[in-house]
Amino acid sequence: MTESGMKPALWHGVPRSKIDWHPTVNDEKCIGCGLCFLTCGKGVYQFDWDRKKSVVIHPESCVVGCQTCANLCPAEAIAFAEEGDTPQKKAQRIVKKYKVLPSAKKELELMQS
Ligand code: SF4
Ligand code: SF4
Repeated sequence: MTESGMKPALWHGVPRSKIDWHPTVNDEKCIGCGLCFLTCGKGVYQFDWDRKKSVVIHPESCVVGCQTCANLCPAEAIAFAEEGDTPQKKAQRIVKKYKVLPSAKKELELMQS
């Protein structure tokens, strides 16, 4: 339980708060088109109307492995991995590090039963 009494959000059994997966916006590159804010269905972004920039306000709401907003960004202003790394490799490391496959198998079995 969290301090608020809410159950922590889990991703295949792993507390979401442990997982480093969220977009980072490069303000200098962002042209303020709002596409990421308008597209993300998880409320990760807020739009700063004064600065005309998208701002990440709920990073832990980002779906692990998703990078739709980065794919759509016309300015290539959104990153999920450090320079020299790739989002795909980073996502694969997360899957391995947290041993997600046994959990996924159990989830599939429950769906079948
Ligand atoms: S899609 Fe890219 S350019 Fe458009 S608001 Fe988001 S970060 Fe900025
Ligand atoms: S990667 Fe997907 S879930 Fe995460 S902020 Fe972008 S659109 Fe939203």
